[in-house]
Amino acid sequence: MPQKELERQLLDEISGKQLMEYAQYITSEDRESGSPGEKRAAEYFRQVMGDLGLDVEIHYVENYISLPVKGTLTLQNGEALASCITHSYGASTGPEGLTGHAVFFTGNEDVSGKIAVMRGLASAVPCKNLENRGAAGIICITSGDYPYNMSISPIWGQPVPSTVDMISKIPVLTVNTPDGEALLKALEKGEDQVKMTAEVSTKFRTVPICVAELKADKPTDRFIMFGGHLDSWHKGGADNGGANAVVLELARVFSKHTDLLNTNIRFVWWSGHSNGRYSGSNWYADTHWEDIHYNAVANFDIDTVGTKGSNNFDHIECNRQCYTLGRTVVKERTGQDPHYMRIQRNGDQSFWAHGVPTLFECLSLQPTDGAGKGTFMPGLPWYWHTTQDLFEHLGEEELLRDAQIFALAIFRTAAATAYPFAFGELAVEMSSDLDNYQRIAGDKFDLSGVKELVEELSGKFRALDAEIVRLNSLAEPGDEDLSRAGRVNGLCMDLNRILIPVHYCKNGDLFQVDLAIPIPAFPEFEEVQKLAGMDPATDEFKFLERQLLRERNRVYHYLKKAVSRLESEGL
Ligand SMILES: [Zn+2]
Repeated sequence: MPQKELERQLLDEISGKQLMEYAQYITSEDRESGSPGEKRAAEYFRQVMGDLGLDVEIHYVENYISLPVKGTLTLQNGEALASCITHSYGASTGPEGLTGHAVFFTGNEDVSGKIAVMRGLASAVPCKNLENRGAAGIICITSGDYPYNMSISPIWGQPVPSTVDMISKIPVLTVNTPDGEALLKALEKGEDQVKMTAEVSTKFRTVPICVAELKADKPTDRFIMFGGHLDSWHKGGADNGGANAVVLELARVFSKHTDLLNTNIRFVWWSGHSNGRYSGSNWYADTHWEDIHYNAVANFDIDTVGTKGSNNFDHIECNRQCYTLGRTVVKERTGQDPHYMRIQRNGDQSFWAHGVPTLFECLSLQPTDGAGKGTFMPGLPWYWHTTQDLFEHLGEEELLRDAQIFALAIFRTAAATAYPFAFGELAVEMSSDLDNYQRIAGDKFDLSGVKELVEELSGKFRALDAEIVRLNSLAEPGDEDLSRAGRVNGLCMDLNRILIPVHYCKNGDLFQVDLAIPIPAFPEFEEVQKLAGMDPATDEFKFLERQLLRERNRVYHYLKKAVSRLESEGL
């Protein structure tokens, strides 16, 4: 059957009704990490995937989980602000609470020994900043009527001795907008004494990590990973019940077509995304390092899809070499042309050091002048991370559409003769990253050698992309083409292993884990900013210059390795 017809058949087999049925079951109970509702969902995964004939493993493991229990905030006039919540990995105050002077922090105020009040989400970077400035506690004011649940730990996954001390030592609360305005009004009147209590339960808990492998008929160790987080804030209708349902439904549909697959598909549900700061995927990444490093072709992450009224495909979060595939399928299914967004350090991105590229995370968004207006990320629905994220926010049509987009992208990777990566634009991105650093460094540090290598890569990438397109356009590839495709696929695997760590990971050691905070491209070169402001005659300049030289050597070495690897395939 021609490819297009096969795809059409596959998409027609995805059932909106079945998706909603799965989602309704999963989202009928709260699913914080380690909770009975999460376990119930995990056992449902076991049942559904087992019935489909997949190899299922539910790993019940001990992860360091933090559950917000209760937060209270009382103003000087005795009024208690009812919307108050606390956060994963914040400190507890004990029943006596913390009483102190509150100060509204807008960037420069002295918060030392005081309770800092800020607008925005309780997240790792602003909370750590206030803690470092000596704040005794933090109160965040978020938009709307429902405060947003968050985790404030800067540690990715499980803490280790070198990171555990970064867990917050101060309590953090969030209130909604009306309560936040009442607090700010009190501060304006000089009534700045407030009392906060926070109870957070942080300890090792047993959580489920769900893995089900669909084997291609042709034996192979290579696999595509597809899934997202299982734990949710409250009932998590959209985030992440709809996405969980898509994982089950695509397993059902793909299980009928194992004859068409050239790679296995590993369906996953991670626990500990919110209450463990990605501890589920981090556990899996640490525990199965070799398998992931050698065999994972790509990671398809799915989060907060299928919400009623979502019609906005503004961007695709991914590694650049996956963008062409994502863009093509979104265009085909929606008529919209999403722009590229470099994948961020969130959303269970635990596999960069292993060299695994990611496509997607969130996908369809709310219109930014409607239900997605004024939220943390424009387009995320207003009920995201709140008690109001319920099953009723999922739309059957929208969920089906999003499931079809994922299915098409996964199918075109798993069934392709050659993996449908497109590396050409990656060189453009790298080149622009380096130009940016060079502009900042001025004449104090020279990146031209690295830049020249990227230019060399660029031409070879284009030749590789053309070869991939040629191989995938063959209706019936002969033995020679298939053998060439095997080598091209091996080359793509190697290029991802060489380039993703050097472009994305701050830590040169692939077996350690970077923090859960934003990390820039070629993170080693971030320090040029500091160098640019230094006097070259100082010792400090010379120390930092040498560090940057070592880091430039590392980047150069890996880019050179990529060039050689491309040359070894005649490119
Ligand atoms: Zn989510």
